[in-house]
Parts: sequence; C-alpha cells; structure tokens
Amino acid sequence: MDQYRVFGNPIKHSRSPYIHQAFAKETAQELTYQTQLIELDAFEQDIKAFARAGGKGGNVTVPFKEQALALCDQVSKRASLAGAVNTLSFRDGQILGDNTDGIGLVKDLLANKVPLKNSRILLIGAGGAAKGVVLPLLEQQPQQLMIANRTLSKAEQICQLVSDGRLTCCTFEQTNNYDFDVIINATSASLDGHLPAIPEKVIAGAEVCYDMVYAKQLTPFLLWAKEAGANKVIDGLGMLVAQAAESFNIWRGVMPSTDEVLQQLRADLT
Ligand code: NDP
Repeated sequence: MDQYRVFGNPIKHSRSPYIHQAFAKETAQELTYQTQLIELDAFEQDIKAFARAGGKGGNVTVPFKEQALALCDQVSKRASLAGAVNTLSFRDGQILGDNTDGIGLVKDLLANKVPLKNSRILLIGAGGAAKGVVLPLLEQQPQQLMIANRTLSKAEQICQLVSDGRLTCCTFEQTNNYDFDVIINATSASLDGHLPAIPEKVIAGAEVCYDMVYAKQLTPFLLWAKEAGANKVIDGLGMLVAQAAESFNIWRGVMPSTDEVLQQLRADLT
C-alpha cells in the first residue's frame, strides 16, 4: 500500500493523519498516512530513508519547511517564493516540493464567500505562512495587497522578491492610513495570546478578519476583531483542511471534498 507521512517536531498533535485517512476513504484510495517525529538534526537522512524504503510522499511541518525546500530536486514557483515546502512527492528517484498553504487559504476564503477580486487586503506577518500566501492571493486579482510586519525589513524582502504593483508593505502603525476589506493575520501572535499592534480603527473597518491560527473558541485576534466591529471573523481550520486536500490531489490526482472532515475536526477541537 502507498505510504505517506507528516514529518515534524513536535508531531503528536498533528491532525493530518485523520484528515488524509478521511480523504482516502472518501475517494477510495488505498494508502496509509502516519506521523513521523524527526530529530532536529536528522531531517535529510530520515526523509531520504523513507523515500528509499518506498514512501510516496509526505507533508512537512514545523520546524522543517525551509529544510525541505533545500532538500528538493525540483520545487514549484509558489514553494520557491514561500521559501518553504509543505508537500513532498517522491517520483523516479527525485524529490519534488510544493507549498499548498496559500491555495489552502484562498480556497477557504472563497468557501466562506469572502470576495477577493478587487478587494483591498491587509496581510499581517511576513514569516513562512505569509510568504506562502502572497502569490495565490495576487492570483485572485485584489485591488491591493499590503503586508504589515513587526519587522518591516521582512515584509520589504517579500515585496522586492515578488515585484508586483499591487503589492506594498508598511509598519503596523502605517496601516492607519488605509482602509481594508479583508485582513488576514498570518502572525503566530495568537498562539501566545498576543495581538499584532495594528490600530483598532483599521481592524474595526474591515469586512472580514481571518486568523491562520485556529482554536475551539475565537482566537485573541478574532475576539478583538469581533469586539471592534469587524463584520465577519474566520479562523484557520478551513485552511488546514484545504491545504491538505491540495496535497492529496498532488499525490493522488483526485481532489477530496473537505466539508465533512472540517465539521468533524471543528467538533473535536478541545
Ligand atoms: P513564522 O515563525 O515564520 O513567522 C511568525 C510571524 O509572526 C512573523 O511575521 C513574526 O513577526 C510574527 N509575530 C510573532 N509574534 C508576534 C507578535 N507578538 N506581534 C506581532 N507579530 C508577531 O511562522 P509561520 O509564518 O510559519 O506561521 C504563522 C502562523 O500561521 C502560525 O501560528 C501557524 O500555526 C499558522 N499557520 C496556519 C496554517 C493553517 O493551515 N491554518 C498553515 C501555516 C501556518 P517578526 O517577523 O517581526 O518576528
């Protein structure tokens, strides 16, 4: 049976085996999907060993996404821009890398009926997750995509790399000079109960606020946005499932449906 894994450290918490096994059942694909804990200095050797043993591919999560990019023989344009790979495929002795985080986000936004075409989007954060979503968001033809990051130089690097007239960057404070329809929090601040220091007026004026982090209750960012008056708030659980579906499609050539898996995961959140 074809074998897939998700590689990370830590990895016990991962919901990917549940998601991919549900996809396999729904699409009648014969495969196994398991977690593999990788020691911090053993990524390359463990991935190559799995490929040699007949593994077909896998997902990569924290903290190995950048190392995965370096390991690949070929990477997609979106993975190259993201500087990170979350999907590995082993084919004909080669390691192929892709990054499905961005398309996962776009699909989840569209599933939630968030208009992206001609919209003014603020992306908060300039880490791996933010980088991964820039190209897929621009493909949706927004009027404007602005990146605000605590460390401005990281946002500037993305703008230089992508070089698209609709893409600009600024400090948190400078966002005060603009209005946005959609605000996407791609910082990890919510994980520690912190908020990115965006002026509340900016958040309050948005139609939709999205947090890539997810939780049973509203994340600190989404709670803040809701209380400030943002019309619609959405967390990143749908993105998690949608990026997994894209990986599954890369490996198996069949796109699973995501609704039931998402509902079940939402019900299981603790
Ligand atoms: P990185 O570590 O690469 O980047 C972290 C980002 O968060 C940086 O921009 C950093 O700013 C910013 N940041 C961290 N703490 C604060 C704070 N207190 N105030 C303001 N900014 C802060 O992480 P990733 O980009 O890989 O991941 C970001 C988040 O997205 C994570 O929480 C991750 O779990 C989530 N994610 C969710 C996915 C999903 O499917 N739902 C998929 C991928 C990621 P600075 O540059 O100044 O340090």
